[in-house]
This record gives sequence, structure tokens and C-alpha cells, in this order.
Amino acid sequence: MNKPEISVVIPVYNEEAGLTALFTRLYPALDSLGLTYEVIFINDGSRDRSAAMLAEQWRARPDATCVVLLNGNYGQHMAILAGFEHTRGDIVITLDADLQNPPEEIGKLVAKMREGHDYVGTFRLKRRDSLFRRKASAAMNQLRERITRIRMADQGCMLRVYSRRIIDIINLCGEINTFIPALAYTFAQNPVEIEVSHEERFAGQSKYSLYSLIRLNFDLVTGFSVVPLQWLSFVGVVLASGSAALFILLLVRRFIIGAEVQGVFTLFAITFFLLGVIIFALGLLGEYIGRIYQKVRARPRYLVRALLQQRDNRAEHSR
Ligand code: UDP
Ligand code: MG
Repeated sequence: MNKPEISVVIPVYNEEAGLTALFTRLYPALDSLGLTYEVIFINDGSRDRSAAMLAEQWRARPDATCVVLLNGNYGQHMAILAGFEHTRGDIVITLDADLQNPPEEIGKLVAKMREGHDYVGTFRLKRRDSLFRRKASAAMNQLRERITRIRMADQGCMLRVYSRRIIDIINLCGEINTFIPALAYTFAQNPVEIEVSHEERFAGQSKYSLYSLIRLNFDLVTGFSVVPLQWLSFVGVVLASGSAALFILLLVRRFIIGAEVQGVFTLFAITFFLLGVIIFALGLLGEYIGRIYQKVRARPRYLVRALLQQRDNRAEHSR
């Protein structure tokens, strides 16, 4: 198989209920574009039948399919990074396996790329997620925009298209806990965002718990900016000035009014508040130190258990 024009990268984690529907919609949608393509599925350590179903699909369409089987669950973004290393197309598309973003929209994105952009992001006008999820996303979006310079209308929408150049840079980065749309955005020269439709999850449940969403957002903030560290210094300066003023006030009162024993509980409150600030600061520092630690340790980012790829593909791949 020659080098395809587009590569589609899809991470899969326990998606057995929806995979068949994905195959039956994705391949015809890509065929109708009239371009050569490859689809790269990454099985992110699924514990259900997903891996077997992907292998079956590989046997059905070996010319246009590649399956990377990871040996554990590394998370959506690591899985996509693993997929990126196997892409060969000039245009690389990421897509979720749950059919929330219709594969039929890919043509629209590719057409936008052809207008000279190197990054086509997407946003969902009518988002089909719970109210809580939407509100939380909106709040995080605002915080992220303030802290990092990354402008994205909708960070949760993974249907995005990147140029070969951006993918090559990402492959060089060796990032660990990252957020692909933001990482790609930092390298883009001419990014654009367009609207796409959004559907309910076809089957199964969201793989993100509240906890993993919070983790993801921490990665997004600490992985792309050191502004929070500067904020810490700022908070430190404000608190120190505040307590200096309080100290002077108490000193003056001591001379004017005499010894006072009131306000012991206020003192407790202030102390506990400050303890909270300190622990928060330690945690934030820890986030950065943890990132440094992971980087310094330099273990393989992920392990591939097996790779299903056509033989002549592979020969070309080790060029
Ligand atoms: N996913 C993954 N590894 C994980 C969690 C999710 O590969 O640890 C994949 C999942 O199979 C899906 C995509 O990432 O293709 C997005 O997951 P999901 O639809 O659950 O996220 P949501 O739409 O709720 O943000
Ligand atoms: Mg989804």
C-alpha cells in the first residue's frame, strides 16, 4: 500500500457495543471522499471484546486498517500519541470511537485544510452531554484561556485535523500527560475552527469519571503554562502584606487598649485558611515536580503488545 493521503486515528477503550456501528459508518464515509486513507485504531487496554473486534476489522480491510494494541490503559491522549507514531498520511484526523462526532463530517474538515490551514479544530453548537458536564466544561474553558494562551472554543471536541508537520513535531516531543488539541494548537501556524454536529454517545458510557476529567484539566493547565506558579508568588506577596498590616494594627491596639484576649477563634480561622493555601501551593508545586519526575525517569511512554499492519506497510514504515 502506498502512502495514503489521510490518516484517521481512533482510540478505543471498552467500546465493544459501538464498534460495529463505527465501522459501518466510518469506512463508507471515507470511501466517498475519493481519497486514499488509512484508519489507525489504538486499543487502550480494553477489557471487553474491543481488541478482538478490531482484529476482525483488520482482517476485513487490511489495506486501509492498522491496529495498535497497547498493553495497558494509558488514557485517551496517550493512545492517540501512540497512534500518531504510525500515521503516514499528509493529513491526520483524530476521532472518538463513540460516534459522538459523525465521521461524515470528515470531508468538511479536509476541505477546510485544503484552503491552506494546518489545524482545523471543531466546536459543537448543540452539545449532547449532561448539563453539569457542559457547565463544568465552560468554566474550565475560561480558566484555561486565562492561564494558557490556547484559544479553543470547545476543548472537548476531538474531531480535529492536523497537518503532517504538526504531527511530526508532536512525535518528536515525547510528551507524557498531555492534551492533544492544545499541544497541536501551540505548533499551528494557521489554525481555524469550524462547527460540527454532535450526537449522543452511540452505545456504552463515557469513559471519563469526574476524577479523570479533573486530572485532564490539571494536565491542561500545568502542562502548558507556568503562570500558576507565578500566581502562587503573587498570593504569597498579598498574604504577607495583609498579615504585616494586621500585625501593626494589633500592636497599636495593644498600646492603646491594652492586653486583649478576644479573637482567638478568628485567629484559628485565619491560620486554617493559610494552612489551606500552603497545602494547595504544595500540591501545585507537586504537579510540576511530578511532571519533571516522569520526564527524568524516561521510561517508555507506553508499550505496544501487538501491531496489526500489512507487511509491505511495515517495510515502508521502517524507512
Ligand atoms: N478512551 C481511551 N482511553 C481511555 C478513555 C477513553 O482510549 O482511558 C477513548 C474512548 O474509547 C473514546 C474516546 O477516548 O473513543 C473518548 O472517550 P469518551 O467518549 O468516553 O469521552 P467523552 O466523550 O465523554 O469526553
Ligand atoms: Mg464521547
